[in-house]
Amino acid sequence: MKLEMKILALDDDPLLLKVIKRMLSNLGCQIATCDNGQDALEFIGSRDDNPDLILLDLNMPKMDGLEFVRHLVERKFFGSLILLSGEDERMQQAAEKLARAHQITVLGHLHKPASSEKLAELIGQWQPPQHIAPHAVRKVYGADELRAAIANGELVNHYQPKVRVQSGWVMGVETLVRWQHPTDGLVFPDQFIGVAEEFGLIDDLTLVVLRNALHQACVWRDSGLDLLVAVNLSMDNLTSTKYVDVVSALAADIGALPQMLELEVTETRLMHDLRIPLEILTRLRMKRFRLSIDDFGTGHSSLAQLRDLPFDELKIDQSFVHGAGSNEKLQAMFDSSLRLAKELELEAVAEGVEDQADWDFVRKSGCDIAQGYFIAKAMPAADLPEWIVSWEQRFHVLNSQH
Ligand code: C2E
Ligand code: MG
Ligand code: MG
Repeated sequence: MKLEMKILALDDDPLLLKVIKRMLSNLGCQIATCDNGQDALEFIGSRDDNPDLILLDLNMPKMDGLEFVRHLVERKFFGSLILLSGEDERMQQAAEKLARAHQITVLGHLHKPASSEKLAELIGQWQPPQHIAPHAVRKVYGADELRAAIANGELVNHYQPKVRVQSGWVMGVETLVRWQHPTDGLVFPDQFIGVAEEFGLIDDLTLVVLRNALHQACVWRDSGLDLLVAVNLSMDNLTSTKYVDVVSALAADIGALPQMLELEVTETRLMHDLRIPLEILTRLRMKRFRLSIDDFGTGHSSLAQLRDLPFDELKIDQSFVHGAGSNEKLQAMFDSSLRLAKELELEAVAEGVEDQADWDFVRKSGCDIAQGYFIAKAMPAADLPEWIVSWEQRFHVLNSQH
């Protein structure tokens, strides 16, 4: 337990606040309490040193927990949250997700009444903000800076392996772009793809990523490694029908066959005005590029829309994969996505296979392909051949456990 930690507990139940105060004081924390959101916001606003951690009830009569989170976001709260409420598991998960979507660190949730051990365990996970991984600290980059980076070759491709679940065969890689920033180190795509889309730089960015990926695919092929190389497209890349010709010409120029390249488009973005994107995707498919639906399950595609899109692969979003083995709701989402993929004769990929439990679950499910930290994180191209050798050994061991 970090003795210097400052905790604020917010709950409309004064008795519970007393119990928590006693529990946490016994653990050696500094603890303040408020019984309504307004007072809590005033408490936070009245001091220079914000609490490191807020224990938050969800169901409160005046300002509920979700509204309180929204105010925290407006106030740029950098501390962490633990949800402590009587709501059911699903509500708590939804609230946790919402807070995380606002970039607030959530250590977890507990059901009332929570034991002192459970609370201590979650609090023990708290880390001071400066110890958070560098790419979790968000910095907003400007369009000019990004434009220069694209022109100067500061964008580098990393590649994350995709393996066949039954045979262990490394069938391909997904290209994930990183920005090798001269002073900030390796910057992750969620910090600059949005900027590129907003300022009309995404076509240039995608071309750089595609060119490097196609080159790399040829280098691998020439060394005897046949890998299907996937590249993420932005929906904003699919606004002009010229794009098909640009991609085809690029592949031909580099000497890559269309069959070596797979283009991923995320499901959420697929569902807006489909006319032009549909034409572009269909033409890419006719030229024998492979197409993949990314982050499946996060959008609202109807069966009819899916049937009409000429895809080869469906990637089940990582939020339905990690932990699915021990969570019935995730499992239900996973299973129905998998069934849909099979019915539409698409290859199914489980994204976000993070640990052995996820791997075991995916193997049992009958899903075709897996991708995730348990198998490997994205890596520079040069590391891949050596990784494949070590994976083959590891797969052998994993396989013999069954
Ligand atoms: P995505 O296409 O869904 O890519 C998967 C993301 O999940 C990657 O994050 C990957 O590193 C991460 N990931 C892989 N395995 C695991 C796992 O087991 N657990 C967890 N928690 N995460 C895992 P990354 O590299 O930060 O990319 C984030 C997103 O940025 C990508 O999501 C993709 O939508 C976008 N992106 C990346 N490169 C490009 C690009 O070249 N062009 C465009 N338009 N978007 C890109
Ligand atoms: Mg992707
Ligand atoms: Mg994905």
